[in-house]
Amino acid sequence: MDQRRAEPDFLPSATPVTLYGEFTQTSNRRGRWAVNLTEKDLVVQRLASAPVGRNKVVLSLRDCVGCRAYRDDDKADPSAYFAAYFYPPKKRRWMTSAPSRQRVEQCFRLAALQDPHANLEEAEKWARAVRERSARQQRLRDGVLLNSLPRPCRILLFVNPQSGKGQALTLYNSHIQRMLNEAGVIHKLIITERQNHARELVKDVDLSQWDALVIMSGDGLLHEVINGLLERPDWEEAIRTPLGILPGGSANALAASVHYYSGVSQVRGEELLVSCGFLLCRGLVSHMDLVSLHLSSGQRLFSFLSLAWGFVADVDVESEKYRHVGAARFTVGTLVRLASLRIYKGKLAYLPASRGRHTDKSLQNGAAACCRNPASCLTQTLEDDFPNNTCHSNNSLKLRRSEGRSSRSAAKALPGPPDALLPPLDQPLPSDWVLVPEEDFVLMLAMYQSHLAEDLLAGPDARLADGVIHLFYVMAGISRSALLRLFLAMEKGAHLDTNCQHLVHAKVRALRLEPGAGKGIITVDGEVVEYGPIQAEVHGGLGRVISG
Ligand code: ADP
Ligand code: MG
Repeated sequence: MDQRRAEPDFLPSATPVTLYGEFTQTSNRRGRWAVNLTEKDLVVQRLASAPVGRNKVVLSLRDCVGCRAYRDDDKADPSAYFAAYFYPPKKRRWMTSAPSRQRVEQCFRLAALQDPHANLEEAEKWARAVRERSARQQRLRDGVLLNSLPRPCRILLFVNPQSGKGQALTLYNSHIQRMLNEAGVIHKLIITERQNHARELVKDVDLSQWDALVIMSGDGLLHEVINGLLERPDWEEAIRTPLGILPGGSANALAASVHYYSGVSQVRGEELLVSCGFLLCRGLVSHMDLVSLHLSSGQRLFSFLSLAWGFVADVDVESEKYRHVGAARFTVGTLVRLASLRIYKGKLAYLPASRGRHTDKSLQNGAAACCRNPASCLTQTLEDDFPNNTCHSNNSLKLRRSEGRSSRSAAKALPGPPDALLPPLDQPLPSDWVLVPEEDFVLMLAMYQSHLAEDLLAGPDARLADGVIHLFYVMAGISRSALLRLFLAMEKGAHLDTNCQHLVHAKVRALRLEPGAGKGIITVDGEVVEYGPIQAEVHGGLGRVISG
């Protein structure tokens, strides 16, 4: 579906011309405005004796989401109108950070002729020209037309009324409905009734009817939708459906990541919603990594964001009871868990990004494994010296030379693409894996996108489709204050600069975790999964997401 071409009228214009007209504005019928539509901007200037420049507004067509022509209900009035909708960055007096977006509407009245049809035709000519030129501005980069949703586009929008503080539907009504209408996006709203409702619907929906599936919730609802798509017999085609995300939950990690990749600085709450709404209306589509996970029960699932064990997973689940405070629930949860900081026993191994086989073009950018911790470098050295390394002899994660056996056969019956790097979960790992020598952890966090929450930039180097799992783990022995400092630094993505000796970061393609006996919590995309051994492999660029 992402291969669909843009309509011909979005293709580069050979001879761009400036369109000029003089109109009254609906908000002020007494003055007249000169309107210039260039290839890049809409320039609106009041025709008056005031000094030039003071009454001039220049709006970039890159910030335009739509433009429409219409007539008033008053049949006796022959005038027609065209309205253009922009979401330019807000101007701030002190530019300490990149600004968020605000809505600006420009509406003009055309009444030059007595014939209402002629006026409407002229208004439609303007509206079409604004739409075509803004589409060109937004989709052309260095002469290349970026992949985008077709126009007009049709989306299926899932809203979880229970997510976050329970305000997703209110936020849809106050911001999103109008934005989508302005952008000419046809959408069907589905309000989920229970957990897994969206997953069930997505498994059966006729995808040819929709250009994108959009989720307004936290990350949990997107997790449902992605797994629903990959459970379909036609998963290969289904997972190419562009997915959109509008923040309506607590953590809103993917929404924050997509916003971050668009190059503007961190915003929260309604500002983040407007930014993501704007990106959705623009409709540029990118590839997104997905991670395949195997649980010890044999279940396989897919993840787009994170796999967590230890401190982070505990905070996510324990903070459910503070849901009413919104995103602040994670801060409260972190402080509560810090007070009763504990050690989690387990075994961890991974396949460094530099050693994984590349099967997807998008993986070519994947950077080499990066190790900030001498201890885990030692593991690598040991393993390099002893290819048949069995250094934790009683360890079920023990390494062995790969015999080319992968979980391909085990996963055959499971939907989705086969995993090329993972042996069955009960089998030893190939020798090119790194076994972490420590077995006492405070947390393990595997991230495939930049944000863990709206204000937690856990993987600052992560990109949508870098084909890399950013593995972080914190070893036991870290003090409470050092751990708190790490989380505070993470708000700006600076945790790796703190030189904390207990924190390790590695770029990997696959990993296996075997938590010690007993009860505990593992989360995938913020959702609790069965506790026990788990392994993961990244599938570079398998999904599609609407981004900047
Ligand atoms: P939040 O960020 O607030 O946790 P999520 O999108 O992660 O929001 O959703 C939380 C959970 O709610 C997920 O497990 C999701 O599957 C589930 N869910 C989806 N729709 C509903 C619903 N209508 N009622 C209850 N739970 C739902
Ligand atoms: Mg959630």
